[in-house]
Amino acid sequence: MKLIESRAEGLYCAKGDFYIDPLRPVKRAVITHAHADHFCSGCDSYFGHRHTIHFLKLRMGRIAPMHGFEYNSSFEFNGVKLSLHSAGHMPGSSQVRIEYDEEVWVVTGDLKPGNNPYCEPFEQLTCDFLITECTFSDPLFRWPNEQEEVSKIKNWHQDCIEKELHPVLSAYAIGKAQKTQQLLDGNGIPILVHPTIAKFNESYRELGFKIPDYRILKDGMSKKKIGNALVLVPPSVFNTAWMLRFEKYSAGLSSGWVLKPNTVKDRGADCGFVLSDHADFDSLVKNIKQSKVKGVYLMHGDKSLMLQNLQNLELDIKILRYQ
Ligand SMILES: [Zn+2]
Repeated sequence: MKLIESRAEGLYCAKGDFYIDPLRPVKRAVITHAHADHFCSGCDSYFGHRHTIHFLKLRMGRIAPMHGFEYNSSFEFNGVKLSLHSAGHMPGSSQVRIEYDEEVWVVTGDLKPGNNPYCEPFEQLTCDFLITECTFSDPLFRWPNEQEEVSKIKNWHQDCIEKELHPVLSAYAIGKAQKTQQLLDGNGIPILVHPTIAKFNESYRELGFKIPDYRILKDGMSKKKIGNALVLVPPSVFNTAWMLRFEKYSAGLSSGWVLKPNTVKDRGADCGFVLSDHADFDSLVKNIKQSKVKGVYLMHGDKSLMLQNLQNLELDIKILRYQ
């Protein structure tokens, strides 16, 4: 029997009787990070990095026993040893290393090698079996220099002000929004954020992270009060009727997906900026190679496309599939 199997509820370790990022309520849930597609409410107990636990409490309330750990410290379930290692994706984001009977498995969760002011750097692990995300499963997803994208946002903001448009930029409320604010810091651009983003900004500050100054967008705020601000909003309101309050605006999309042809247009945006908190295709391949695995399983994203692209690279690595 495999140490980690795929069940309807999520990835399951029978030896240790725990799930990783379960989609349905289970007894023990080990959570890689606090994005909504990686946890569910109703579990009997939660385990994760202490920052992940901080966000889970904010998002779900203290609904069950929640156990927070530091990176590289280990804990056990029925003799199965677990430890969390930075995934570089958002505060607390963890790769889960699972060891039993001299066999090591790693579940990446969402990963992002490179600089993130709100994370410890991604830790390169080695293992026997790797279960990796593959959100950006095509070589067309290669991230450009981040500072060049920041310059593009700066130019767009200036252009909008000259044309008397409000620049409204979409950014996921937890992770991308804070990183974007940090990247724009020092550029002289006033920032106005949607209340949902403000809530998570404050939760970052509670963890001791520095978030640059910002104002909160309020209902009925006048054009004059909004002024020259760049407005950050979560995807849930981007290009919905909610946006009509701005009268005249330019909609910017901040995502790795803008490299896919027509994405900007299809999402009703006026322009796109390639900023992502996920690994690009090359980084996914590099992690697979450097993990020195006997076999790799794919999760999230277009698994068939990733499989095809990995086969094209003729890596000397077994790509495995759960039934
Ligand atoms: Zn995520």
